[in-house]
Amino acid sequence: MTKVNPEFGRKLQKFGARTSYECFNCGNCTAVCPLSTNEAQFPRRFMRFVQLGLEDKIKRSLEPWLCYYCGDCQQTCPRQANPGEVMMSLRRYLTSVYDWTGLSRKLYTSMGWKVISVGVLFFLTLLVVYLFHGPIVTERVELETFAPAHIVHPVGYAFGAVLSFFLLSNVYRMYRFILGDMQGKIPASAYIRELVTLVLHFATQIRLRLCANKSRWLKHWLLMTGYFVAFMLVNVDIVSRWSLTNEPPAWWHPAKLLWSYASIAMLYVTTEAIIGRLRKKEPLHQYSHSTDWMFLILLWFTVATGLLVRIFMELHWPLPTYYTFALHLAFTVPLLGLEVPFTKWSHLAYRPFAMYFMRLKESASS
Ligand code: SF4
Ligand code: SF4
Repeated sequence: MTKVNPEFGRKLQKFGARTSYECFNCGNCTAVCPLSTNEAQFPRRFMRFVQLGLEDKIKRSLEPWLCYYCGDCQQTCPRQANPGEVMMSLRRYLTSVYDWTGLSRKLYTSMGWKVISVGVLFFLTLLVVYLFHGPIVTERVELETFAPAHIVHPVGYAFGAVLSFFLLSNVYRMYRFILGDMQGKIPASAYIRELVTLVLHFATQIRLRLCANKSRWLKHWLLMTGYFVAFMLVNVDIVSRWSLTNEPPAWWHPAKLLWSYASIAMLYVTTEAIIGRLRKKEPLHQYSHSTDWMFLILLWFTVATGLLVRIFMELHWPLPTYYTFALHLAFTVPLLGLEVPFTKWSHLAYRPFAMYFMRLKESASS
């Protein structure tokens, strides 16, 4: 029996969907959506689900993850019901459903929680740097003396392990919500075979290329690869020690070139998104949830301070290097700690997993 929650529409407003009741179900949005298919139809169907309060059905759906917010449907809606933004709000809501800690819901629905969480992690990181930094050498830049690698790297690994645990346990809950009813019907071989789908969609975000505006895919891909390259370099750096060191290699070192790519790609896409959201010209930039700003601001400052650290190192400015490095860590910790398992960045994992689960679902019913 399908349970109905008449308050669901009101609940979803806190996640950003303020216009779902404007929809009169004409279906224009689904007709123009380049990602909607016969098997996975949206967004009209989900506008209806929200209006009817079919919360349980939405919790068990993966379609909200198949929308990439290209914004095409926003322009054709005769009622300005903003179906793309409602789909985005459903993704925020689902993120809070998967998260067993409850922090995601608080971050999405309370300004106080956002400000306090970011503030606490930011100042706590600065306090830790203040208490545990090494000697401050002012004659030349000695970043590793200031931030000893044998402390920074293990702490980074432990932090990464904790974040992975939260994110993966939430992905497991997503799996239970979507495929819980058909677990026994999915052949074991499908779990292995469809890993290709998971990796492909994670690495390429290829579905976004189906949208009319191809530059959106390129920007998404730049951001994604920039983040991935930066993540890999941080881990490789622990072994090769070319970044957190007192003797940085020349600018043409491959790792340095890759790092420049990652920084410029992320800074470009983030700056462009901030300007777009301030101008509000494109349909997908017209509505910004406070967590969108939180993500963009934290990412922009994390990347910008990281870039500045390397510029100050090249200029042989010791104190600006150390202080900016401390600021860089203070932005990185809330960015990763809050965004990766609990808010916007977790979507990078949920989208490819939704594709993976869709294939598993198909293999169960074939
Ligand atoms: S969201 Fe707009 S376009 Fe889509 S069904 Fe509703 S009224 Fe029609
Ligand atoms: S935002 Fe784009 S992908 Fe999402 S429902 Fe609208 S048209 Fe489809």
